[in-house]
Amino acid sequence: MKNQYDHIVVGSGVSGLSVALLLAKQNRSVLLLEKAPAPGGSLARFRRRGVPFDIGFHFTGGFSPDRKGMLDDMLSVLGIRDAIEPRFLPEERCHRISFPAIDTTFAIPGGTQRYRQQLKGDFPHQKQSIDTFFDRMQRVCDKTAALDIRRFGTAAIARVEDDYVSLQSVLDEHIEDNLLQALLSAFCMCHGSRPDEISFADHSRLACGLYESTARVKGGGEAFISAFENAFESLDVDISCSSTVEKLADIRKRRANRFIISGGREISADSCIFTIHPREIIKLLPEEFTTPAFRHRIEGFEPAAGFFSLYGVMNGNHRPETDDSIFSIFPDTDINRIMSPDWHGPRPLVLLFNSENTGDRRVKTLTTLELSLPHEVERWSDSSSNARNGDYGAYKAERSRSIRERIATCYPSFNDHFSLLDTASMLTYRDYLHSPFGSAYGIKQKAGQFNLVGKMPIFNLYAAGQSSMLPGVVGAMTSAFVIVRTLVGKHNFQKFIEKKLCH
Ligand SMILES: Cc1cc2nc3c(=O)[nH]c(=O)nc-3n(C[C@H](O)[C@H](O)[C@H](O)COP(=O)(O)OP(=O)(O)OC[C@H]3O[C@@H](n4cnc5c(N)ncnc54)[C@H](O)[C@@H]3O)c2cc1C
Repeated sequence: MKNQYDHIVVGSGVSGLSVALLLAKQNRSVLLLEKAPAPGGSLARFRRRGVPFDIGFHFTGGFSPDRKGMLDDMLSVLGIRDAIEPRFLPEERCHRISFPAIDTTFAIPGGTQRYRQQLKGDFPHQKQSIDTFFDRMQRVCDKTAALDIRRFGTAAIARVEDDYVSLQSVLDEHIEDNLLQALLSAFCMCHGSRPDEISFADHSRLACGLYESTARVKGGGEAFISAFENAFESLDVDISCSSTVEKLADIRKRRANRFIISGGREISADSCIFTIHPREIIKLLPEEFTTPAFRHRIEGFEPAAGFFSLYGVMNGNHRPETDDSIFSIFPDTDINRIMSPDWHGPRPLVLLFNSENTGDRRVKTLTTLELSLPHEVERWSDSSSNARNGDYGAYKAERSRSIRERIATCYPSFNDHFSLLDTASMLTYRDYLHSPFGSAYGIKQKAGQFNLVGKMPIFNLYAAGQSSMLPGVVGAMTSAFVIVRTLVGKHNFQKFIEKKLCH
């Protein structure tokens, strides 16, 4: 490690890795600081009995078979697209959603047009409204330059009117049928905010990519981490794990000139980019540089939903239905209700079946993600991993039992074939990912909310990451592109993007 860098990047999830790589490709020197013992954040995998499981990267939109999707483009500009192998879920049955309370299951196909046609067939009395709804989603995406890095440098990243109205209000405006409303809000599970909280625009930005195509990646998030690490090898990037910025020093004219990192070492840098939770960022800002209103705004951001998860393997001749890649179980068609703190029934549950190579054998894994909210684990919030009291063990055991029972009502022989290898609560994610509440997606994205993004009150500090624009791997990576565009200048960056995309 040197004593001076052009940039310090804090946090090595997909956003921090992307910021570091984009800057290094502009011949800048970068120090990447990560609090955990290894880089990757939510992209990381863990292993139980040799079987790999993804933490926060199961599937994504943004890949296209012609390699012209948003994620294809971003990875190409980063120079790591060839290292990533997307595996598209079958178009005819990408995702199934079951509503056991009304004994109904829908198969959602891949491709927006295909899904739209299918919905019009299933809800013939709502044909016109379905078209209106999807057209409105598309208009939002067309107007969002940040969703297309090919026109990044030329258009401003402007808000649209639908940034100020909730998804629920647009559903109420166009869609009469409760079940159809539920289907059109199902992807709230992919950003963790309720339909009556998130803006229609942000929901559309996230859902459009997932409707168009859904893919897993061979090797999961680990494939991304390796690709980044390989790319760093020939560039001026140092990674320091179990390390963070502890304090800003030598602040003059609202610029921090030195950064005291873990262990007390002082590093000089032109700028520092934080890709961590906003609450953690403002802890570092001396009070005299922030207004009470600014702090109040940041402290007021609410955590998005998280998950209680089971990780295990399927053995023997389990039922073929479990070949479904993604299967969601919604206990009610009122998505606001089942995502809200005062709902006491079972919460939405997503089953992710996958096949993994573990050296000599191929195993079928299952990760279940049951929506969870911070108050459910508040009682143990003062504890740390491996040091929680017995009561917590009982909570985990009961929740695991109930999830298994819920799955068995859909797949009766499920428990004969499933071997549980591990469980994770929001506290597990909190402690592993160093995020204040263990939410899966950072902060809630609320209509009209102004996130912490870009330049901060100390002018050479910047915020990016999942909480700054949109969550998910694509959203977090997009924030990296937006911030680097600010740092290197939009014309230079646009030229760089164009050069990379025409090769
Ligand atoms: C269970 C789960 C399932 C998910 N499933 C999907 C999915 O299928 N598809 C999808 O697209 N998205 C999914 N997500 C969301 C997605 O993983 C995230 O939105 C995205 O990866 C966030 O990237 P990031 O770089 O902003 O943050 P993170 O990946 O959280 O990285 C932040 C990094 O900063 C580090 N850090 C924190 N504080 C400090 C500090 N003070 N100093 C230094 N380092 C610090 C953390 O240790 C971490 O490594 C899921 C998330 C979870 C938890």
